[in-house]
Amino acid sequence: MKLYNTLTRTVEEFKTHTPNKVTMYTCGPTVYNFAHIGNLRTYIMEDALERALRYVGYGVKRVMNITDIGHLSDDADSGEDKMLLGAKREHKSVKELAAFYTDAFFKDCAALNIKRPDVVAPATEEVAEFIRVISALEEKGFAYKAGGNVYFDTSKVKQYHTFFNFKEDDLEVGVREGVEEDENKRNKNDFVLWFTKSKFEDQALKWDSPWGVGYPGWHIECSCIAMKHLGECLDLHCGGIDNVFPHHTNEIAQSEAYLGHPWCGHWFHVLHLNTAGGKMSKSSGGFLTLSKLTEAGFSPMEYRFFCLLSHYRNTLVYSEDTFQNAANAFRKLKARALALGTDGEKDEAAMQPFRASFKEALESDLNTSQAITCVYDVLKSALSAAAKRALLEEFDGVLCLDLLKEEKKQSALSAEEIEAAIAARAAAKKAKNYAEADRIRAELAAQGIKLKDSPSGTSYTIE
Ligand code: AMP
Ligand code: ZN
Repeated sequence: MKLYNTLTRTVEEFKTHTPNKVTMYTCGPTVYNFAHIGNLRTYIMEDALERALRYVGYGVKRVMNITDIGHLSDDADSGEDKMLLGAKREHKSVKELAAFYTDAFFKDCAALNIKRPDVVAPATEEVAEFIRVISALEEKGFAYKAGGNVYFDTSKVKQYHTFFNFKEDDLEVGVREGVEEDENKRNKNDFVLWFTKSKFEDQALKWDSPWGVGYPGWHIECSCIAMKHLGECLDLHCGGIDNVFPHHTNEIAQSEAYLGHPWCGHWFHVLHLNTAGGKMSKSSGGFLTLSKLTEAGFSPMEYRFFCLLSHYRNTLVYSEDTFQNAANAFRKLKARALALGTDGEKDEAAMQPFRASFKEALESDLNTSQAITCVYDVLKSALSAAAKRALLEEFDGVLCLDLLKEEKKQSALSAEEIEAAIAARAAAKKAKNYAEADRIRAELAAQGIKLKDSPSGTSYTIE
């Protein structure tokens, strides 16, 4: 598998510590609002990567955090606490807010055929681990206390700017206009490991610690969760491109300071989804969600297809037109796939070159758009219908576009409404009110819902 590595800034042969086994870590969502379709682009491409790795023969163990502790928008302790703001906005507790949006996130993932990671770790459940690692960093001389907080001392690591050869002055932290410098910091890029004093006096979730009652900083959670569940050597770390600095840079600094050896060999970053107006962002409001797309008559698979059509290392620009074109193409593609019969032989020798091309596309820095071209190549080939169907089924194990899945017929009534009508009919029958029972049956039939009675109850089909 050849994959671009942000660390070396080249496409290189992907290597793992244990042959054929990948430890994979993904930065998860901050659960103070719905994921927008930009966030979902990142998760779709990471899912495609995981499935591609499995397809080419790796076993994958994947871990994701859920940021359910106040997430500051920058390191200067002058940003906004997104969880607290969200809780106030929605008159919920921070816990309720996190539970609601975690659930909403995984519902979106399920609708988009994004596999749930093997381990999903909410930050609030890992605080003991954060405290243990911060204490170790303090013992090793990589952390200092100032103004009630514990900071990571970036001047103590051999190489801080791992991803880029930026000069210190090029880094933006603390120098953005309007953002006041945190006077407690010894070096501009130092960051908070543990807060006991921040401007958020009414912080909802606090824990006791050797440094006083407080809460962890932004970066420590991913390092700790990754090391706890995947060990001291990580093969693959993923996230959106905005995570490169400072988040992933700080993750590397603190993890390697703690471990005393290199930590993660390969960094995979997905470029952003932008609108014509610029980057889509959760905190700016006015963003598109998956539900807004489905309300507008699109299916989640159409969005997945739209994402897979472009390479993860290109910025993807969303517009109504480009998305509509992708959706139209997807509908045609799916109709062609569904129209395939089952006739003919599955000639393995004839199928093999198509499989090889598909694998090659995935192994060429996850070229998903080329992989989709392979689907079209199969459809227009001279292979038998049975062979085409078998190949499409196999490819769809990676693309996960439900190409061969018949859509369930939709009824104007929801499943709950149908069940309620069936229950009302059963009650009418029990009360020997057969006229009412027949009326309900006829009413459902008029909506295309056919009832079938059996000793174990009543089932229905939609026609
Ligand atoms: P957040 O929930 O804000 O922590 O973001 C979740 C993931 O989405 C992170 O990996 C971000 O890097 C990524 N992300 C944020 N904005 C975008 C965007 N406009 N396009 C693609 N990915 C994004
Ligand atoms: Zn992270």
